[in-house]
Amino acid sequence: MHRSLSDIEGIVCDLDGVVYRGESALPGAIEAIAYIQAQGIKVLFCTNNSRATIAQYADKLARLGIDVPAELILTSAVVLGEVLRDRSPRPESAFVIGGDGVREAVERAGLTVSDDDFDDDVDVVAVGWDPSFTYDHLKRAAFALHRGAALIATNDDATFPAEEGRLLPGAGAIVAAVEVGGGVKAEVLGKPHRPMMDAAAARLAPATRIAVIGDRAETDLAGGYAMGWRTILVLSGVTSAQQAQTLQQQPDAIVETLAKLAP
Ligand SMILES: [Mg+2]
Repeated sequence: MHRSLSDIEGIVCDLDGVVYRGESALPGAIEAIAYIQAQGIKVLFCTNNSRATIAQYADKLARLGIDVPAELILTSAVVLGEVLRDRSPRPESAFVIGGDGVREAVERAGLTVSDDDFDDDVDVVAVGWDPSFTYDHLKRAAFALHRGAALIATNDDATFPAEEGRLLPGAGAIVAAVEVGGGVKAEVLGKPHRPMMDAAAARLAPATRIAVIGDRAETDLAGGYAMGWRTILVLSGVTSAQQAQTLQQQPDAIVETLAKLAP
């Protein structure tokens, strides 16, 4: 096994740009994960992408050849649901900008999702990545925020990689629009922010020697540094070898692909 994994008990493994890109598994990634799991290391798949539900992620991973129980998949949408569920007093209603993942998480937390275009009397505006985001959504969110609703966001990634190698605007771009329109700052939960890092640590417990594997310095690595975890940067996603050299804080290891972590 790769030296960066010696003594490691648990791994927080990013998905996009690490395990797959779009619908295709990255070369050798599936075999590497199987090898790591076979060494008794618990692997938690952890993504800031909030669009899909956990069942949809489990299906996708199964299609690619990874069988993983739902409790070992963590999305920023699930963290959002858990944060709302644990809030006291618990908010009752929400306006959701986001995909199925956010909507399901908000509903599971016991909130009613309002779909009435003229209803701006909600407790929470919950924002994730949403390709159908429009000015009308922005307007409705702003009205609710002006009335005092809380703004909570799955993540603030500026971009994310599309299959063909281009970078698409991420949830952070939508969150920024809602913040400006509503005149408030969002509470952001995804990597590198603490709520998601804590949720990941809780799922890997009692493991304490944890490594984070990711392709993005400002989310995956930054979250790992903050937790005191080992950090492994893979170059199969958004960060090039050249960019990796210029990072102010260097990860514990840099590997071309996940495949390099297995013999
Ligand atoms: Mg990634």
